[in-house]
Amino acid sequence: MEWCENLPKKRKSRGRGKGQKGREPRVQCDSCGAWVPRSKAKRITTYASPVDPQLAKELEKKGTAIAKYPVTKTYCISCAIYRGLVKVRAEEERKIVKPKKT
Ligand SMILES: [Zn+2]
Repeated sequence: MEWCENLPKKRKSRGRGKGQKGREPRVQCDSCGAWVPRSKAKRITTYASPVDPQLAKELEKKGTAIAKYPVTKTYCISCAIYRGLVKVRAEEERKIVKPKKT
């Protein structure tokens, strides 16, 4: 098996964080609906308010507390890049493994 020894590898982790684990459950992208492995997907939590943002700004000036609830969304890599959540990195920079946020 000589041919497969020095195949190019784009990323050290191959874009995933599963390590030696064999398989893992798949999750669905909230934007395009693609099924992606859980460690490959990007989960982003934003805080949404039921009140109109312009009205909320005015109410906050007056000192009213407005309830905000967390909205967690899962994105596949192509949707995460499209939204600017993750960026394409330079060739050498790619080798650096960023710790996954929990
Ligand atoms: Zn997607």
